Formats: sequence, structure tokens, C-alpha cells
Amino acid sequence: MKISRRIEKVKESPTLAITAKAKEMKQKGDDVVSFGAGEPDFDTPPHIKSAAIKAIEGGFTKYTASSGIPELKKAICEKFRDDNGLAYESSQIVVSCGAKHSLYNIFQVICDEGDEVIIPSPYWVSYTEMVRLAGGVPVILDTKQADGFKVKPDALKKAVTKKTVAFILNSPSNPTGCIYNRSDLESIADILIDNKITVISDEIYEKLIYDGEKHVSFASLGKEAYGLTFTVNGVSKAYSMTGWRIGYLAAPTKELSAAVGRLQDHSTSNPVSFAQKSAVEALKGDQRCVEQMAAEFKKRRDYMVERINSMKNISCVKPRGAFYLFCDISKTKMGSFDFSKKLLEETKVAVIPGEPFGWDTHIRLSFATGMDEIKKGLDRLDNWLKALK
Ligand code: PMP
Ligand code: GLU
Repeated sequence: MKISRRIEKVKESPTLAITAKAKEMKQKGDDVVSFGAGEPDFDTPPHIKSAAIKAIEGGFTKYTASSGIPELKKAICEKFRDDNGLAYESSQIVVSCGAKHSLYNIFQVICDEGDEVIIPSPYWVSYTEMVRLAGGVPVILDTKQADGFKVKPDALKKAVTKKTVAFILNSPSNPTGCIYNRSDLESIADILIDNKITVISDEIYEKLIYDGEKHVSFASLGKEAYGLTFTVNGVSKAYSMTGWRIGYLAAPTKELSAAVGRLQDHSTSNPVSFAQKSAVEALKGDQRCVEQMAAEFKKRRDYMVERINSMKNISCVKPRGAFYLFCDISKTKMGSFDFSKKLLEETKVAVIPGEPFGWDTHIRLSFATGMDEIKKGLDRLDNWLKALK
């Protein structure tokens, strides 16, 4: 049977594939240390789990409104107001099956065949594929490590063409952990506003932020920025709820959220009913769990950055947010796939190659794994690099 041209062009997700391979090796009894995880290693907090159990026992197990239950939309509006200084009404919110789904929906709604979407590189692996799936053309905009992996206004200006429809902003970033502060955002805002470019602001790592940095939402810069922006977020990373599949978007107008809603009506329908109830609890309940997780991530980050930068032929910039180190391996003269494959085969340490993030000179190490495992994995990496010819 033939496979459609649309799907033939789409690559497999290496983040999911490598994480799954490491898990499988572990289950078979291999002593694998995985730095692949794109998800917090903590359990979902008990008060959030209880909300789902209560919902199931109370019979909340049927279809809901396709774009999400009113109670959750209200909690999301309150979150945007309190955390981000953003005023949205419930009618501007669409709840989906994870932020990945929210992003997918946006590209389907805004892209026509041949429309260009500017993606700063390094980028999260799914952006390019989602744009392609919508018939769009990913335009890769390279950043420099020396600029903290952030887009500079001149470079952005050059990437804009008559076909540009959107720009993806991911702060804090996966895989670099860089954060755009207010002045970084202001420096690119005028170009985006002048050219009426839609901004897709992926803020999924907002709560995992260190060193007293402050998260700024692009839409909060002013009326014009707000009018161009889809703000995307979810509960996966902040509340360790990756398996629950709840993400959401806020659209600048009701017409746009309704367009996303129509797509969802005819594709997935509502996200899981009782997971929505848990998301309400996550957003409105006790937030100490988020602080505890972020504090633990910070400890691990500090330890890993110091160790990596003391090793031979590898280095990294200290990430300010998220839970990844994006490490430069160019001195080894190996491509990132080759490096990752050999490392896994020879030491049973799993890392993610940088090539699918746009940078073959780098690898990504997640610190969403316990301290003992981190120590063990870094010892192996250190010894392997020392022995490398
Ligand atoms: N954006 C980025 C940058 C991510 O790393 C992820 C993690 N998969 C997502 C969005 C989607 O997260 P989820 O679908 O679990 O909400
Ligand atoms: N976002 C995570 C990662 O980059 C999870 C895996 C995925 O959805 O790609 O590893």
C-alpha cells in the first residue's frame, strides 16, 4: 500500500526513539544510564493524582466539550493573568492532548502550501516536522553559541521573505535552556510586528527556570505583540504530567481559537476528561511541588555543568531554564549520531544527538534523572572521552 507524500517526508522523532530504546535495554537487564529523557523523572504529585481518581469515581468519564471543560479554561485564564500578566477570555483558549498537539493544531490552522515558518536553530525536533505536515516550509535561522543561542534582530530581518507567516519562539528553550529576557524580546518584536508575522510562543518550560531569571511572555510586550501571538503551554513539564496529555493554547482572537476548535472537533475531540480535572488541580492547587522539582533540577544542573566542563573534548554553556545541557563535542571530530551510537554501545550511556535539533556538533543531555545515575553516567562519559583516540 502506498504511503502519502505528506507522511513520507516526515522523520521519526529521535527524542522519543532513543528514550524508548534506552528504556527497552534497561528492561532487558542492561545497566543503561539514560540522559535521553525529555520528561521529569518525578512522580505526578499526589494531590493531582487524587483529582483524577475522584473524577473517575464520580463518573466524569464521558466526552467533554471538544476544546476543554469551562472549569479548566477558567483556571488557564487565571494562570495567564497571574503568572504572565496576560488577559485572555475562556473563548480564546483551546485545551488539547499535550502542548505538542496545540502546536500541531496551530500550524494546520495558519499554514497554506508553501508558507514559510522561521525556526531558530537549535530547535526542538518536532517543529520542522509539524510545519512540513501542514504544508509549510521550515526556514532555519541559525543562532550562535556566543550569543547564548538567541536570535539577533539583523539575522531575523534577513530571514523574513514575502512568504513568511510565522516565527517560533521557545523560551526557555529545548535543547539549549536559553531564556529571552524582556530586552531580547523587544529587540525582535518590531521586526515581527512590522511584517505581521504570527508568533508561536512555546512556553512549556516556563516554570523550570534558575538563577532568579524571570520568564516573560512575548504576548505581554504590548497590544501589537498580543495580537500576533499564540501562547502555548501545558502541565507536562511543570507538574510532571507528561503521560496525562494536557496542553493548551491562547489565541489572540476568538476567531482563531474557534478555527483551532473546528480542527479538534474533527480530529481528536476532547482531551481525556479526568486528566482535564487533574490539570485544574495542578494549576489551582498547591504550587510547592513545582518549586521542589525546580530546586532539584538546579542542583543537578550545577553538578553536571561543572563536571562536563572539566572533561576532555566536551563543553557546555550553563542553561538558564528547562532540563537539558547542549554540549559541544566538535573537538572529538565525530558527528553527533556517530558519537551517541558509540557511547551507547561502548559504555551504555544514552544521549540524544544534536543533528535533529539542527546542530551536528552537539549532543543533548537531560538532567531529568536521579543524582546517583547522573554521577554514574558522567563517570562513564569522562573515562570514555579520556580513552578516545
Ligand atoms: N515544546 C517543547 C519545546 C517540548 O520539549 C515539548 C516536550 N515534548 C513539548 C512542547 C510538548 O510537550 P507536551 O506535548 O508533553 O505537552
Ligand atoms: N520534548 C521532549 C524531548 O525533547 C519529549 C519527547 C518529545 O516529545 O519529543 O525529549
